[in-house]
Amino acid sequence: MLTYLGVAGWPVAHSRSPAMHNAALAAVGLHDWRYLKLPLPPDRFAETVRALPAAGFRGINVTIPHKEAALAVADEATETAAAVGAANTLTFLESGAIHADNTDVAGLLEALPLDPRGRTALVLGAGGAARAAVHALRRAGAADVMVWNRTRERAERLVAELGGRVVDAPESAALLVNCTSVGLSETDRPFKSLPIHADTLGVGSYVADMVYTPEGTHLLAEARRRGATVTTGLEILVAQGAASFERWTDMTAPRQAMRAAVDDHVRST
Ligand code: NAP
Repeated sequence: MLTYLGVAGWPVAHSRSPAMHNAALAAVGLHDWRYLKLPLPPDRFAETVRALPAAGFRGINVTIPHKEAALAVADEATETAAAVGAANTLTFLESGAIHADNTDVAGLLEALPLDPRGRTALVLGAGGAARAAVHALRRAGAADVMVWNRTRERAERLVAELGGRVVDAPESAALLVNCTSVGLSETDRPFKSLPIHADTLGVGSYVADMVYTPEGTHLLAEARRRGATVTTGLEILVAQGAASFERWTDMTAPRQAMRAAVDDHVRST
């Protein structure tokens, strides 16, 4: 009998997770496991998720717009998912319980090339990705986590729940993490939409962009050109996927195979 994993979203057609996880399953020899796309409208999310274990599912990833609903449908949650207020990974336990985790947190920390402890960080955005980033950086001991968002009230709510402090204008920071969706479209201009200046992204600075696009984002291209150390959204995607994979399978995730599959998928779309 096949064991199923999947990614639930609405829409979910663009997801790179099936290519990444099916490559991982093949690489570790789990030939009777499959990872599927699960397009679920919000009003069907909870009832469908509850029915998945009986259909052979071991767990699912959850993406926009279901991450908060995923935490709500779970019977138990990691401290991380509870603190962030959202889950991206559900595991169906043998007891029948649904377990929730948020591997965006571990994924960001694994992908960053620096230890945030004692460093300053500027997070742009106040949506789900920013919540995970702020929690990750504070948990890792960052000295000062500044949060800027286009809609200030949303940043204020985030900081009230997760810590850090709201800024209206950017202050210099060792690490910049873009958690807005600016950069998703080829016509997005990060240096117009976001309060950052290209000349601050130089040698010695670290820039991570949650956004991933086939050709890479303008923000990272400019940061790289100026000598900053960059972390791409694809690296973060692979790291969060690896953490989910390990939770479902109890095996070490084959990160290189996952990265290669994501790169192939990006090239072919
Ligand atoms: P979200 O909850 O919808 O939040 C979107 C954020 O972008 C908000 O802070 C929003 O500001 C801001 N924004 C949108 N358009 C903007 C503009 N023109 N100028 C300035 N700010 C703008 O989305 P999310 O779940 O946090 O995801 C954000 C991005 O991260 C997406 O591209 C997603 O694909 C990516 N992501 C990547 C990974 C990964 O593994 N690499 C994981 C999670 C998310 P307002 O509050 O003012 O609307």
